[in-house]
Amino acid sequence: MTDECLFCRIVAGEIPATVVISNERVLAFRDISPVAPSHVLVIPKEHYPTAADLAKADPALVGEILTVAHQVAEADGIAESGYRLVFNTGPDANQTVLHVHCHVIGGRSMTWPPG
Ligand code: 5GP
Ligand code: ZN
Repeated sequence: MTDECLFCRIVAGEIPATVVISNERVLAFRDISPVAPSHVLVIPKEHYPTAADLAKADPALVGEILTVAHQVAEADGIAESGYRLVFNTGPDANQTVLHVHCHVIGGRSMTWPPG
């Protein structure tokens, strides 16, 4: 937990969020500015800044995040229609919150590549 981290504060319950799934090590909650009908962020409860930091420190937790991402898709009814998983990492990807998060985005058709 770092006091200045927005997502650590959500994990701590200091900032409200619409939780979709919570287990021992992973939290999934709705993005405050959704870009699609379904837009959920899946994060480790422990603080790691980027996907690279997490992968280095705890590869099993990366797997848990992907498992929860798919559970979110099932809960939102988009597992069959399809969804996109995105880990924005670093400045060129415009990562704005430095607590690793997997975007689960779906519920509409999407183009590739993204802008
Ligand atoms: P990034 O740009 O770092 O990949 O994504 C950060 C995401 O966090 C954005 O999609 C943004 O809408 C979301 N976000 C920022 N602040 C909050 C907040 O206070 N609550 C929730 N639920 N989402 C937030
Ligand atoms: Zn954090």
